[in-house]
Amino acid sequence: MSEPRLKCIICNKEYDPEEIVYNCKSCGGLLEVTMDPPDVSWDRFANRPFGVWRYRELIPIKEGTEIVSLDEGGTPLYRCDRLARWAGVRRLFIKYEGRNPTGSFKDRGMTVGVTKARSLGSRAVACASTGNTSASLAAYAARAGITCYVILPSGKVAMGKLAQALMHGAKVISVKGNFDQALKLVMDVSRSMGIYLLNSINPWRLEGQKTLAFELVEQLGHVPELVSVPMGNCGNISAIWKGFKELSGAGMISEKPRMYGVQAAGAAPVVEMLRKNLESITPIKSPETIATAIRIGNPVNWPKAVEAIRGSGGIYDSVTDEEIVETQKAIAYLEGIGVEPASAASVAGVRKAVRACLIHPDAEVVCVCTGHLLKDPEEVITVCGKPVEIPPDLKAVSDLISPEPLPQTCFG
Ligand SMILES: *Cc1c(COP(=O)(O)O)cnc(C)c1O
Ligand SMILES: [Zn+2]
Repeated sequence: MSEPRLKCIICNKEYDPEEIVYNCKSCGGLLEVTMDPPDVSWDRFANRPFGVWRYRELIPIKEGTEIVSLDEGGTPLYRCDRLARWAGVRRLFIKYEGRNPTGSFKDRGMTVGVTKARSLGSRAVACASTGNTSASLAAYAARAGITCYVILPSGKVAMGKLAQALMHGAKVISVKGNFDQALKLVMDVSRSMGIYLLNSINPWRLEGQKTLAFELVEQLGHVPELVSVPMGNCGNISAIWKGFKELSGAGMISEKPRMYGVQAAGAAPVVEMLRKNLESITPIKSPETIATAIRIGNPVNWPKAVEAIRGSGGIYDSVTDEEIVETQKAIAYLEGIGVEPASAASVAGVRKAVRACLIHPDAEVVCVCTGHLLKDPEEVITVCGKPVEIPPDLKAVSDLISPEPLPQTCFG
């Protein structure tokens, strides 16, 4: 493996990969990890377990480093014919990231991020989070035996995610403010107290998340035409695009997909910027959406996401909470796949784009479904309602059970 470098995406200034630095010291730009294209081919990976570390040569962690892992990645790619018909495309696949150890794609990033933290000698890690980052970091910090601090926007974190952070032993602090304020706080506190920061501004996390692209190519046997990704802090779409670019650079694929970035209508600064063809985002002060994982008004990684969309000849759009919930239900009842609201945005976006003639009905698309249904049980009760309650007698049950299949409470 060639020596990896940390490079500013704006001014190209380079930093030692062993230095703890999150933004360019000259211009404030985002950093990314770069290395020369490694000399590998697909057969090198063939006999290894399916997951993030299958692609060891493409992950810029020094050989011999002890890896912190819970067997992340290697998630299923489901072909969804009924959902494809529902969305109006010929072929639709779901890359189901809910099958990761803590139930979201964040684990792909944390295995690399926490491995890096430990190799740098950090004794404590921290993040601000809309939920899944904290759940994942708490688990990986526990696995590594290091202390974890988590700063959450109060009252806005789904119960399943909070439960995970608490049970894995993170020190959880709730801030009366939104995610963007929590992130600013954790960045300041990390700098002043020497705690290693593992929000997605941390470029090492994206090195783990990019493996989703590698898995997709192996699972499909070819490069998909279009990959739809929900955008919150915009790390994931950037990471997946980086993965495809690196495969291309290493001569392992001959074409790249178009990237589709989907935001929630109440938290869509990147989509707004692209619609108006501006050069920077206008942060949204009070982002609102039922999809709490993407309830972010000032996404840190927006420049990388914009590059992913523009650089891939991709598309972008926002979807309303109604569309998100309707789609979440459709994924669940048409295909048996349970996803949290933010994940449904990727599929909702596809249906919208087909109707707007931005995706051809003959297309083959992959939707990244980022997190598990059980993350947010309260949202489910809100949108599906509670089950009917009856006394324990046969008559009461029979009255409710018709010869027809059971009515689906979600759909009336
Ligand atoms: C974190 C998260 C997102 C958003 O990903 P970004 O990298 O912040 O754009 C979407 N869905 C789920 C379930 C998440 O946990
Ligand atoms: Zn710079």
